[in-house]
Amino acid sequence: MPNITPQKTASIEDLLKQSRTAQAATPTPVGAGSASAPTASAPSPSAPVVEKTVAETKLSEKMEEIKLQALEKQAGQKAAALGLPYIDLKGFPIAPEALSLIPRERAEKIHAVIFLKLEEELRLATTEPSPEVEALAKELAAKQNVHVQTYFISDTSLKNALKLYAMIPEIKEVIYGVRIEEADLERLGKEITSPGDLQDKIAHVSLTDTVTMMIGAALKSDASDIHIEAEEKDIKLRFRIDGVLYDAAKLSKETWKQMISRLKLVAGVKINVEDVPQDGRITIYIKDEKTDIRVSFLPTAFGESVVMRILRPKVIALAFADLGIRGRAFEQIQREIQRPNGMIITTGPTGSGKTTTLYAILKKLNTEDVKIITLEDPIEYKLEGINQSQVDQAKKYDFARGLRSILRQDPDVVMVGEIRDLETAEIAIQAALTGHLVVSTIHTNSAAGAVPRFLSMGVKPFLLAPAINAVIGQRLVRRLCPACKKKIELDPATLAQVKQTLKALPANSGENVDFSKLEFYGAVEGNKACPTCRGLGYKGRVGIYEVMSMTKEIEKVILGGNVSEYQMADIASKQGMITMVQDGLLKAMEGLTSVEEVLRVAEMQVETEDPLDTATQEQPAPPMVSTGV
Ligand SMILES: [Zn+2]
Repeated sequence: MPNITPQKTASIEDLLKQSRTAQAATPTPVGAGSASAPTASAPSPSAPVVEKTVAETKLSEKMEEIKLQALEKQAGQKAAALGLPYIDLKGFPIAPEALSLIPRERAEKIHAVIFLKLEEELRLATTEPSPEVEALAKELAAKQNVHVQTYFISDTSLKNALKLYAMIPEIKEVIYGVRIEEADLERLGKEITSPGDLQDKIAHVSLTDTVTMMIGAALKSDASDIHIEAEEKDIKLRFRIDGVLYDAAKLSKETWKQMISRLKLVAGVKINVEDVPQDGRITIYIKDEKTDIRVSFLPTAFGESVVMRILRPKVIALAFADLGIRGRAFEQIQREIQRPNGMIITTGPTGSGKTTTLYAILKKLNTEDVKIITLEDPIEYKLEGINQSQVDQAKKYDFARGLRSILRQDPDVVMVGEIRDLETAEIAIQAALTGHLVVSTIHTNSAAGAVPRFLSMGVKPFLLAPAINAVIGQRLVRRLCPACKKKIELDPATLAQVKQTLKALPANSGENVDFSKLEFYGAVEGNKACPTCRGLGYKGRVGIYEVMSMTKEIEKVILGGNVSEYQMADIASKQGMITMVQDGLLKAMEGLTSVEEVLRVAEMQVETEDPLDTATQEQPAPPMVSTGV
């Protein structure tokens, strides 16, 4: 029947043909025992009857064909009228990879299929060009980075193409490497009640299960990263939970070769490559929710170091109001992000929650009448309704070049992942001054450090001063476990330090501290019996913030050029800004976190060098805490 014989490998059409022949063959022999029935060449019971039927069938087939040809001709005319190319898909070898680019339900709903996938082009066919089809074409073009050509087809072509879906297995998404099964994750995860359990259990499972158990345990303990490092004598396994690294287990070095091969296989990278860094990805589905794990391999002295970053959708679920920005600072930010132009900058070291804050701001601004475009490095989470793009150093699509092309797209709000150089800074400022709200991050220790940093890049003070709306400085502190935290007395030295910091709160900050009633809480660590924190004493994190919004005085100082971080902090404080440490201590007084935690985190500094890749290092040397066992 087909006009064109498929030349490539077995296409769906071939499979469909085979299945048709097979179906036709099975019911024929009635009493012959269908299991051992021969194929289509089975002898016919009575020849004359069959001949008559064949003649009749031939006639009706011919009639049907004429009808179909007429319909195809009509479709061709309609295509011409619509100005679209026309194609008859009868016999066209549609590959499963092409077809599966659109889920079946969607294809049926909008009457469109992808019938050909070339290196730089996708061909989409529809019986009904509509805004939905157009949206799909755009979506595919962006996602696959190809040109999408739309063709017009007849109802018959569509019907046949849709039938082909039955021949492909349900594909949710392309999954790299070897799949990790949800059932295995659950089975192995069940054996782990606290990260410390891993050491006992992991020695007794097969190598395949080791990797799965590791991921299962990490997911169960809400870890954000898994670190696997080959050391001189053994393999060290550590989890990062709420920003802090914990020793999870030590494995025998003998298993290293197999272990690293398994990890590379699962992550979909080259197994035989050991001397250059590689990046892979694992996608797992748990209760139908997709979780991605980004895996980075780095050569080290004793083998390799592997870091798996678990990208949890709930990280971006945080709403602006739930970030933990309070009082006056909250009102200021709320006001500044509603302005149609200017810049909102977040600062802090890597891992201080800057991106979460930016995403929360974008989500708050994300309404139908606002166009938001982001430029990220890399895109870690998909935000519904926001156009996200990613820098690509290999293609010379860097922040500066990307930002230029984004501005041609006429956005209202632009998010730039990070401002690292003068060129990007200047374009961002230009955008902020010409009717765009720009949100971005800059690598400095505090809000007050942002302005000196911009100036040291070479930004002109007279452009910077009117462009900035607000600068946010932030860190993340761990929340005390609400189930097992206890009231504590601070040692005299710490108490004195705390009092001094709180006494420095600006009079116009809106905060009043009653020094006669200072109460603080601490963590109970090592109490594995606590079901909420599994003995860690902390559960989850909250931000501590300082917000410096632009005032006439601050603007004047910037215009003067040459201004230090210290000077900026001093003016901001006079204007009523609460510092991060003060905000943290106020949160400690409420029992949200501990003083110890606030002081630990406040000391974190940005790295002296600009990290080119933040993928492998989330935070600058956090203190290690052993979970014991
Ligand atoms: Zn607890």
